[in-house]
This record gives sequence, C-alpha cells and structure tokens, in this order.
Amino acid sequence: MKATILTLPGDGIGPEVMAQAQAVLEKIASRYGHEFVLHEGLIGGIAIDTAGDSFPEETRKLGEQADAILLAAVGGYKWDNPQAKDRPERGLLAMRKHFGLFANLRPVKTYPSLAQHVPLRPELLQGVDILFVRELTGGLYFGPRQEMGEGDEAYDTMLYTRGEVERVAHVAFRAAQGRRKKVSSVDKANVLASMRLWRSTVVKVAEDYPDVALDHVLVDACAMHLLTRPASFDVILAENMFGDILSDEASVFAGSLGMLPSASLGAGRFGLYEPVHGSAPDIAGQGKANPVGMLLSVAMMLRYSLELEAEAVALEAAVDAALAAGARTGDIARAGEAVISTAEFAQAVLANL
Ligand code: NAD
Repeated sequence: MKATILTLPGDGIGPEVMAQAQAVLEKIASRYGHEFVLHEGLIGGIAIDTAGDSFPEETRKLGEQADAILLAAVGGYKWDNPQAKDRPERGLLAMRKHFGLFANLRPVKTYPSLAQHVPLRPELLQGVDILFVRELTGGLYFGPRQEMGEGDEAYDTMLYTRGEVERVAHVAFRAAQGRRKKVSSVDKANVLASMRLWRSTVVKVAEDYPDVALDHVLVDACAMHLLTRPASFDVILAENMFGDILSDEASVFAGSLGMLPSASLGAGRFGLYEPVHGSAPDIAGQGKANPVGMLLSVAMMLRYSLELEAEAVALEAAVDAALAAGARTGDIARAGEAVISTAEFAQAVLANL
C-alpha cells in the first residue's frame, strides 16, 4: 500500500526517537512491499523559534494531506515561560482540536523482565494488558468554566452530549473486539448527572456489540482495582479527566514512561500517534532516550490508520524480543545491566523484524 505520513520530531529527545521510527518504517516498507511517503513538519518549541507559531499553517496543511501523523515530543526549559503568548504544548492541543481527535488510546502492558521497575508485587502484574480509551475533547476539561478573576468563585463544568459519548464508546467497543472482548466503562453515575448520561449511552452502544462484555466501574473504585487486580481489565473507557488520571496511575505498570505509546483518533481512520513521554530535556541529545514508546506508537499507526495489522503485530513482537534478549536503555536497566543507546536499541528491534 501507499501511505503519506507527516512526521513531527519536535523538541528535546523528539528528533532522536523519531529517527528510529523512520528507520523502522523503512524496514517495514521494504519487508512488506509498502510505500510510505514521509513529510517532516514543525511543531512545538522549534516551530515557535522557526515559524513564530507552535502549530504553523504549513504543518496543518501537511497534516490535512496525510493518512496519519507521527509526533515525538514538544517542550523544554527554553519555552517554559508562563507569560509567553505561545507555548509548545499549545501547538499540540491546537492540532488535536483541528483534526477533531476525540478518542485517546493508551495501551499499558507489563514486561516480566522489567518487573523490578514497578512498585507493585510481581504476581499482581502477570498478564496486565490494558487499553485505555479516554474521551479527549469534552467533559470537565472543556465544559463551561469561570476563572476566579477578581472574585472568590471559580468553576468548571462536566458537560457531555449523548453524541460525544456514543462516538468514543464505539471506538472502545471496536477496539475490544480485536482484543479480549471486555469493556469496563468508568463513571461516577452515583453522584453526577453527566455521568448518568454517560452510563445510559454506553449501555445503548453496547447493544451493537453483543460479543463484547460490558461492566461499569465507579472512578474511585477503579483507581483501587487498578492496583489490586490490574490483570482483570481489558479496555477501560473513561471520561476525559478520569481517563487522564487513571491512565497515568496505570502507566507505572510498564516500568518506565519511555515505554508507553498513544493514539488520538477521530471519526475516520486518520490519527495522531505519539509516545506518552515528554521531551525529556534532562537527557536530550545524549542518545539515552528509550525509543519503545515511539516505536509502539508506530505500531498503533500501522494498526489503526493504515490497517496493517500483521505489520503492527510484527513490530510489537520485535520490540518484545529485543527486551526479552536484554536490550536496555538507562531508564529500564537494573544495576549492573549493560546500557545501550537509543539507536542501538532500535537496531536490536530492526534485527528482529
Ligand atoms: P518528560 O516525560 O519529558 O520526562 C520525565 C522524566 O522521564 C525525565 O526524567 C525524563 O528523562 C524521563 N523520560 C521521559 N521520556 C523518556 C524516554 N523516552 N527515555 C528515557 N527516559 C525518559 O516530562 P517532564 O520532564 O515533566 O517534561 C519535559 C518537557 O516535556 C516539558 O516542557 C513538558 O511540558 C513537555 N511534555 C510534553 C509532552 C508531549 O509532547 N506530549 C508530554 C509531557 C510533557
């Protein structure tokens, strides 16, 4: 197949991990007979410095012509000025909004060889493989709000329409069909009216997926169950802020922030794929970055936007094999274990592809 991909290396360790993503895409293209046309664009701090805008028009246009966007990371000390009128993260938010990306997918799984990096008993971690589907453009982060201003009052509002819940619920159920066929819908229906709408809508959507089991978990109970029985979850569907908090809680199961991929999807096949980590300015430019989050984001792009499931599975297996064979960047190495560079880790993955 032929696909056009916009790559946005961004700031800090971004260009270092993006270079490995490109190497992997080249290998997959030649191995499976695809043509991936890569266009590179600006986003974040480097875009502010070069184009005067964290999400330049040129990047927007390139994205509109692409089948998918791969983003590495944005931000850094240089742009950490709260008074500045543009900030690197603004570019990211503007891009998600521009492309109508309402569903954020964050898979989290455990790697037996990295169990010592996880502050949970190893027996609890066996078989943990969770996909968070977080609503990304509604709920408490986007409802009507009032800043405090000069007064003593401020508020945020959790507002959902049935349509907003329906479309993200469909994403969760479809994803579950390709997995262990279970959706746990997180809400706070015992207290919040918006969450009663959430629950009744999810129940209705579930009727279209008789092969998928649905249960409802209150958000506070979910926070606890994630630590007491993480392996029992398959797909977790959650409101914007609930999903933000719970997926961060669960991120520790993977052993390092550098291990985690994500996808942001809209109504069609187009998507934005990025590792969960930031630009890690403390290790930037030193070849120390763990490329796994970036490479697994490439696998998600192959699966969801390009519908190349076999290639996605092959890449995930190649990452697993490299880890199982002992490939370790500094963030996932045990004392005494040999540490390899970002590029060497990617080479180990390529060798298994
Ligand atoms: P961070 O994720 O950049 O780093 C947190 C810690 O994890 C650091 O010690 C870092 O060295 C380590 N780390 C992160 N990714 C790693 C990797 N791939 N391999 C090895 N170690 C890794 O978060 P932060 O320090 O809070 O933020 C740094 C900058 O990144 C800030 O400007 C922040 O706004 C931005 N940020 C961007 C994104 C994004 O682009 N989506 C997300 C979070 C933070």
